[in-house]
Amino acid sequence: MNTYNDYHLGFKEHNQKMIESTYKNEMKGNNKRTLVFSYDDDGDCVNAGSRTEDNKDIIEINTKVLLEIYSMAYTLFSQPVFLPNIGNANNESPALIRATYNKSIDKILLTGEPKDEKRGVLARYLGFSGCQFILLHELGHILNGHTELMTSLGLAENGFNMIAKAILDQKIDCYTGYSLDRRTLEMDADAFAYSTTFQEILAMFSDKDDFYINHLSNPIDIFFLYGVMHMLVFLYLEYEFPIAYDKKNTYLPNSCRYALGFGIFEKILQDNGFTQGYINIILPRILGGGKIASKFFNMIYHTDYNFLEMAVHDNNLKEYVDEVNTHWEKEMKRRLKKYRITKLFNEEDN
Ligand SMILES: [Zn+2]
Repeated sequence: MNTYNDYHLGFKEHNQKMIESTYKNEMKGNNKRTLVFSYDDDGDCVNAGSRTEDNKDIIEINTKVLLEIYSMAYTLFSQPVFLPNIGNANNESPALIRATYNKSIDKILLTGEPKDEKRGVLARYLGFSGCQFILLHELGHILNGHTELMTSLGLAENGFNMIAKAILDQKIDCYTGYSLDRRTLEMDADAFAYSTTFQEILAMFSDKDDFYINHLSNPIDIFFLYGVMHMLVFLYLEYEFPIAYDKKNTYLPNSCRYALGFGIFEKILQDNGFTQGYINIILPRILGGGKIASKFFNMIYHTDYNFLEMAVHDNNLKEYVDEVNTHWEKEMKRRLKKYRITKLFNEEDN
């Protein structure tokens, strides 16, 4: 079941509804806490963050991040060579489409749209699924107890920002190991976004009447599209905030953050009873979406990113991910237990 066929909803209204339903579901009986969205429509700094203050869970978001994702989604579907089997792709004339936001009507305005209606619908879907991923990452910080942990350490005002303001301001002498803690929590927030979005994709896939599935030539293409979204989000982050292998970083490199998804997808597919044969069809579809997304991203932004190549050949990647996974198992899972709302990743293994 998905709730996004609500074309009549405004842009922010739609985002909020989408995230609020997950929040309310997880909060269940807890009526004390409320979720608040705070948008920065004019800021130039690409940034998203979350924090918890006096029972208020706050997601802060720079509107530009979401608009960039929409711009990319619409640009992709207006290329005749992108998913040529969907709709009448030959009629498309390749264009760079930009999305802007009109505050007074709460709508996204586009400089163009795919000519084919089906492709337009799917461009919109691709756009909001990218936004959903970004917003769910922030919600993950809240529901998995990260923001409350930060509050308990006196670091609430900084929250989880894309740019670790706290570090820039050099306020963080509070405890050592901050960067590793943060990298670990960022990985956990990514894991939350991955599992929530991927479960939803599976639900769509198995729903014969799903609105978006019916716009695809083959239901399995939903995994391809998911792979496009997943890659675009991290390529865009890399473009705005390249992250290097450095122990002082509060994030894993974007290529690691991208690659981590695959382990989660595989586990979810297994938990949902998919056979290995089926899994071996689905995962390459996600990967295929990622490859196409990279190709187009590099073309549009004049970059030369290759996360897939890095994921296979980069030895640092394994060492980095192992360090964070170990820290998660040995330390952070325990520290988060009293704050978390949702069950933590692998928590049942304890
Ligand atoms: Zn984060």
